[in-house]
Amino acid sequence: MTEATRSSGAATRRALVVGGGVAGLVVARDLASAGVDVVLVEASDRLGGEVGRHVVGGLPLDAGAESFATRGGTVRAYLDELGLGDDVVLPDPRGAWVQHGSGQAFPLPRTGLLGIPGDLAADDVVAVVGAAGTAEAARLDAAPGDVGADETSVGGLVRVRMGDAVLDRLVTPIIGGVHSVHPDALSVDRVAPGLRAALRREGSLAAAVLSVRALAPAGSAVAGLRGGMASLAEALVAELDRLGVEVRLGAHVAALDGRSVTLNGDAAAAGQGAAATSSTSGAPERLEADVVVLAVGDGAGRVLTGRAAHAAGLITLATLVLRDPRLDAAPRGTGVLVAPGADGVRAKALTHATAKWPWLAERAAGRHVLRLSYDSPAVTGATTDDELRSTALADASVLLGLTLDPATVEDAARVEWSAPLPQEAAGASSSLPDGVVRVGGAVAGRGLAAVIAHARRVAAELVAR
Ligand SMILES: Cc1cc2nc3c(=O)[nH]c(=O)nc-3n(C[C@H](O)[C@H](O)[C@H](O)COP(=O)(O)OP(=O)(O)OC[C@H]3O[C@@H](n4cnc5c(N)ncnc54)[C@H](O)[C@@H]3O)c2cc1C
Repeated sequence: MTEATRSSGAATRRALVVGGGVAGLVVARDLASAGVDVVLVEASDRLGGEVGRHVVGGLPLDAGAESFATRGGTVRAYLDELGLGDDVVLPDPRGAWVQHGSGQAFPLPRTGLLGIPGDLAADDVVAVVGAAGTAEAARLDAAPGDVGADETSVGGLVRVRMGDAVLDRLVTPIIGGVHSVHPDALSVDRVAPGLRAALRREGSLAAAVLSVRALAPAGSAVAGLRGGMASLAEALVAELDRLGVEVRLGAHVAALDGRSVTLNGDAAAAGQGAAATSSTSGAPERLEADVVVLAVGDGAGRVLTGRAAHAAGLITLATLVLRDPRLDAAPRGTGVLVAPGADGVRAKALTHATAKWPWLAERAAGRHVLRLSYDSPAVTGATTDDELRSTALADASVLLGLTLDPATVEDAARVEWSAPLPQEAAGASSSLPDGVVRVGGAVAGRGLAAVIAHARRVAAELVAR
């Protein structure tokens, strides 16, 4: 039993799921499948949270998550269960590049884990880190295996075992691009379970990386869905509909009191799925259940559980759909991760989506889709859409090594998301009120693999009561 469900022993007959992102949808489906009466309340006018779709240049594109980690096989098995298994696709094997302050770009080394090299002598590692940096890394990594094994953050571990050059030139851009945080703020055990134990066992971090990689199934570390990851959210919405889950959109939970929640009185009307209704406007409304599942994301989760609020930054995504035949050659593979301090670029990552996903290239029919991500304050909410479009095109020109012409851009879009907050301490859920459990990225770790696996575990424990 996890800390999340230890508190209450009462049977779960009626559950209230707060938040309709993937975590909430997964829990709601599993509880409803087991015969629990489920009500799901979602503050916005759509379900899916950070998984959703927008149309740019006539192409239906992922507006948030666009892939899933294949580790553990959890998401793949879940997609099979939802009938989406035939749509699972692997990204183009050309891989991504990394761009440095020097303006130079390099293909990412093949034998790494989160950018931590498995072979410090490999040519592709020396090319990125430099001869002096790899020599220093090899010297540090020759220390006994228990040196650094108590470091809990990825940054701390890499700094001690391989030094600043490996951290700055490889690990930081990869972690920043994938997890939107600095490696110092990311728990090793969450993103690379078993790595610290392997370090003690193998005696070096490079050998530990190889050993953890050898245990992982062969093939790509990530996969996607033909049609986009938004199909996952759509399939889950259809499931809730089929199972008769009551879904209330525009229903913002303002307060949590034991096993009851208070909805804002001025909730907006909306509709998604046959079972969806809009929340009533007027007086605040109270809902009660045997169990309340908080699936609200980092910021709201802190507020509702009485933790100190934490100002969240923004991640801005700029998507360009353009026609330039020079991009057919995928000059930087599937995209570029940007090291801090790279000259003349404000983006932290670029995904060449039509190079990464062959199904999308087919649909784009000769056009290209580039997706650039920015951390605030590099590009703030004050930037106009036209300014963002120009910035994104200028950055894409630097990162792809080509001068892209504004006249080739057929359409552009901007999406803004809350940046993840530092992960909450393990055990944060144990202090929740009796009958309240938490799921989602803040407690499970960022990414669909972690979020889905954790949400299913919590649902199974609630059902098993
Ligand atoms: C741009 C971007 C790209 C990403 N790319 C990937 C990727 O490629 N691969 C991957 O695995 N992961 C990726 N992720 C991360 C992944 O999408 C998330 O970890 C996951 O979707 C989080 O799901 P969740 O249900 O925990 O939270 P969310 O999706 O944030 O859902 C929380 C829901 O709760 C609702 N809510 C909030 N407050 C309240 C309230 N008070 N009352 C009622 N409802 C409320 C919100 O409106 C929202 O719908 C990406 C994330 C972003 C933003």
